[in-house]
Amino acid sequence: MAISYDDVVAKYDPVLGLEVHVELNTESKMFCSCSTVFGGEPNTQTCPVCLALPGALPVVNARAIESTIKIGLALNCQIAPYSRFARKNYFYPDMPKNFQISQYDEPICFDGYVDVEIDTDEGLKEFRIEVERVHMEEDTGKSLHVGGATGRIHGADYSLLDYNRAGIPLVEIVTKIVPGTGKYAPEVARAYVAELRDILRGLGVSDVKMEQGSLRCDANVSLKPMGSDLLGTRSETKNVNSLRSVERAIRGEMIRHAELLDAGAKVKQETRHFQEDTGLTRSGRSKEQAEDYRYFPEPDLVPVAPDAAWIEELRKALPERPSLRRKRLKQEWNVPDKEMAAMVNADVLDIVEATVLLGADPTKARSWWLGEISRIANDKEVSVAELAITPADVAEIVALVNKGELTDKLARQVVEGVVAGEGTPAEIVAKRGIKVVNDDGALMAAIEKVCSEQPETAQKVRDGHIPAAGALIGAVMKETKGQADAARVRELLLGHLGQTN
Ligand code: ZN
Ligand code: MN
Repeated sequence: MAISYDDVVAKYDPVLGLEVHVELNTESKMFCSCSTVFGGEPNTQTCPVCLALPGALPVVNARAIESTIKIGLALNCQIAPYSRFARKNYFYPDMPKNFQISQYDEPICFDGYVDVEIDTDEGLKEFRIEVERVHMEEDTGKSLHVGGATGRIHGADYSLLDYNRAGIPLVEIVTKIVPGTGKYAPEVARAYVAELRDILRGLGVSDVKMEQGSLRCDANVSLKPMGSDLLGTRSETKNVNSLRSVERAIRGEMIRHAELLDAGAKVKQETRHFQEDTGLTRSGRSKEQAEDYRYFPEPDLVPVAPDAAWIEELRKALPERPSLRRKRLKQEWNVPDKEMAAMVNADVLDIVEATVLLGADPTKARSWWLGEISRIANDKEVSVAELAITPADVAEIVALVNKGELTDKLARQVVEGVVAGEGTPAEIVAKRGIKVVNDDGALMAAIEKVCSEQPETAQKVRDGHIPAAGALIGAVMKETKGQADAARVRELLLGHLGQTN
């Protein structure tokens, strides 16, 4: 009973809710001085506090509070003059205390918003995502299930626990429900997470590496029949760890819900797990209600009461908002909407800007990073940032083309050389003996040769059919191994055939 996505959005109206957990990049943990460095030997970054040994007492990390306030300010939130930590009680082996220190009814930041822009059928459209709260908490440890085919606990022989991550500062950012996105719901969700990632990166408060789990998204979605005011039952897909997966998970859940509703069945309120390979979700646990956690104020910690003057200082020091930066760059570079969206999607905005700041023309810088270099990165299945070519290399290549020392075709050979680690553009030009043929005598020899090989085409040009010259110019470029300046070839060729343009 497959139902297409178009049918789903014709019949139902999706409502989103997004919860994002961000690991802060503080040097020490939230409530102790253990290191937070990623990838250490298991259980080497622990102490009585983060292992919850009896009598150990937590102390709040001041830098974590500062980072959380910065996040709240960047998301246009109110900052609470007074907030408290709370215990969220539940049992899980990776959480040694059997409760998580979090915030409940008194979060440190509340009532903010993020605007995102989507390329819709009617052009670029802005959607406002309202942020309900931003609160501080601690991460759990990690379970490793050994034996069994899936790496999941089912079928495993035994499990290992690594508490290095237990107690790493986490910030949870929760949206209000997001109505009104219609068929763009999956893209709006993706754009929101991307915007958050860019804001957090700009603030320098987190590594925001989704694949390493330092930014994780729980995606809630429900459907209501078109025109209805009643919210449907939501499902929550946990720990989605890439932008693409956020989009796929929501699209998949919308289809799954619609199939249930069409069949007269009910959507169960539950958590679900996204499976990268199929793009589908599988059922997790049925969702706890807040009362199941028996929240109560954390008696071992004093309330957080940040000084108003300090908050104002942090507000003044906020970096440029990514959405404003994009608008500014779009104007400065004079880029059409589609091109800008393509750069944002390909994640090359930073690298293009760095190249422009080194003196390259924006159009040229953009076309190298988005064109040839992105193509190489795709072939190698890495991001452009991982290639051994830097903004300085690209700026140098653009300058060499401008000076007439390279043609576009030769410049592509230089890019290949830089990516292959052969050296700087200038070194590659010297080593490979790459040079533009700008000696008119050599070009004329090639032109005469080509015209005698293709007399009929040459005659057409002589008779005034200028477009036929393209084939001859191509042949001359081939003859000179791409080292000729195509504009000069055209000029000489047309002159040779009695045409001036
Ligand atoms: Zn510790
Ligand atoms: Mn949480």
